[in-house]
Amino acid sequence: MKKIILYIVGIIGVLLLFKVGQIGLMVYKAKIGWKTFETIAPELNLVRNDFNVLLYSKANAWVHEEAIPAAKSTFKKLALENNWKLTISDNGAIHNQDQLSLFDVVVWNNVTGQTLNKNQRIAFKNYIEGGGGFVGFHGTGDDSHQWDWYYDELIRAVFSHHPMAPQFQTGTMNRESPKSFPASDKLPLSWEREDEWYVFFESPRDKGAHVLFTLNETDMIMSGTLENSLLKSKDFGMGDDHPVVWYNCVGKGKSFYSALGHKASYYEEPDYQLLLTEAVNWAGNPEINCDL
Ligand SMILES: [Zn+2]
Repeated sequence: MKKIILYIVGIIGVLLLFKVGQIGLMVYKAKIGWKTFETIAPELNLVRNDFNVLLYSKANAWVHEEAIPAAKSTFKKLALENNWKLTISDNGAIHNQDQLSLFDVVVWNNVTGQTLNKNQRIAFKNYIEGGGGFVGFHGTGDDSHQWDWYYDELIRAVFSHHPMAPQFQTGTMNRESPKSFPASDKLPLSWEREDEWYVFFESPRDKGAHVLFTLNETDMIMSGTLENSLLKSKDFGMGDDHPVVWYNCVGKGKSFYSALGHKASYYEEPDYQLLLTEAVNWAGNPEINCDL
């Protein structure tokens, strides 16, 4: 009898350890990830007179397996429609001074974790501050990058969580019309859609960002706490000011971020394609002053 009880206790212990290990691994993958860097840059054949756009999609922390390829095909289509010369590369070493200087806009597609080594980070920061254009979306704004400048200057918000129950909800986004984003007139004033809605610790508006869309949280469940979870409580949203699309100046450069885009199908929404198109055209247009 004693042996059977010991046996059962042992099995429960092993199962518990397995569960804790599984959750630990998931949190590590989402928050920190694994560092891998490239040191040999790809060869590029670009002409400076073209409107050159780099689409970079490396994910060293959480990998959005469906969204990343979906965004790549959407950008191929948008490039054809807008006469952009699109370079698709997941090689972090492309972030060097000479090659970055060829691009009008660098787009980060669900980039997570640390994907750039120290020198590549310096080159990227110098490129942006020197007048480069940046567009990032969804996972690109999560909290796995471990880079102060990235959160303080480029994104201007630190991700806390996304709702877990349910993970995907339909919400209404309300448009604002900042002067320094003239194309906002083309976008819906009120835009209802589904997504995995990111919650940030504070509104990027408080850090000087210009907000394009806020999410109306009323009647939505923003809690990111899992039942019976070891994760600390994430039972909060952002209240009256929940920006989901915004932009800001970074030195002489411009940065645009959209929290939208977990599922592949979202990149097929005509309004989302329009938003991404206008974001890239805005970020790469030196005539637009983003300080207004
Ligand atoms: Zn996601």
